Amino acid sequence: MDLENEIVIIVIASHSKRFLCPIDRRLVSHSYFLLMANKSAIITGASRGIGRGISLELAQIGYDLVINYAGNQEAALKTVEDCKGAAHEAGHAISAIAVKADVGGAGDREHLIQSARDQFGRLDLLINNAGITSIGRADILDAKEENFDQLMAVNLKGPFFLTQQAANWMIDLCKEGIIESPKIVTISSISAYTVSVNRADYCMAKAALGMMTKLYAVRLAEHGIRVYEICPGIIASDMTAPVQAKYDKLIAEGLTPMPRWGQPSDIGKTITALAQDYLPFSTGEVINVDGGFHMRKL
Ligand code: NAP
Repeated sequence: MDLENEIVIIVIASHSKRFLCPIDRRLVSHSYFLLMANKSAIITGASRGIGRGISLELAQIGYDLVINYAGNQEAALKTVEDCKGAAHEAGHAISAIAVKADVGGAGDREHLIQSARDQFGRLDLLINNAGITSIGRADILDAKEENFDQLMAVNLKGPFFLTQQAANWMIDLCKEGIIESPKIVTISSISAYTVSVNRADYCMAKAALGMMTKLYAVRLAEHGIRVYEICPGIIASDMTAPVQAKYDKLIAEGLTPMPRWGQPSDIGKTITALAQDYLPFSTGEVINVDGGFHMRKL
């Protein structure tokens, strides 16, 4: 084949719809292909629950996806397939891969970022979602140090250093003109400001993620990278399944102004608003997705 004179037909899965585009390869640089490709996102903890809900929504606006998980490969692969299906129904062609990585481990975080580099060559959006609940839910007077360390590794150290790595890559990608206005979103919780004395480590980690968001928002603003914190309320997922009856009762008694459980898609839709630049002059913001839980009442 005479590559010099070849006219290539590429399928561009853009933010609108797919279309065929004939381009003379001699005029096209590597950066151009990357610029014209789908935007791409890493979502940690995306095999189940809120991370899966976020991924399904991002798929519908045409994002290529890195679906991270800790151990449940079957669930991760199902999310990958469901995302491709959701994208297709919405008129987009996306790629999605599942990547096993413990966000609490440095080597695994490196592997996660490298997988995104190898597969997509760009990163427009990082979602720090993976998290575990307090192990054993022990009273603060009985909480164990090893459980504290494990939770902090996953819920705080992981997002902090993954954000650092992603941000440095995003800065380079912006300089090369490959991406514009990337974002980093961290999923904290109403537990960032609500006391549960049997989940002290969880509450403290979530509170710290709020400061992490502000720190990165200030540091990265000059590079055009916006950083947000989302505080979900009570969301139906495997994490809350064991306490479903307790929250059913509290919600029925008026705990939340909007009298229903939140769904993973509620968080996902909020993220698509950020991903599509509907908050263009905001950074370091806390976005409550909690049915109004955060408001004090008299
Ligand atoms: P979930 O249903 O328990 O799902 C947890 C997800 O995180 C799974 O995909 C799991 O992967 C992954 N994961 C766990 N440990 C990991 C690790 N070390 N490295 C990478 N991935 C890991 O939890 P969820 O309810 O969706 O919660 C998601 C986030 O929202 C958490 O940060 C949580 O604190 C926060 N949040 C939840 C609620 C709620 O009501 N559900 C409210 C506020 C905030 P595997 O499938 O492989 O195990």
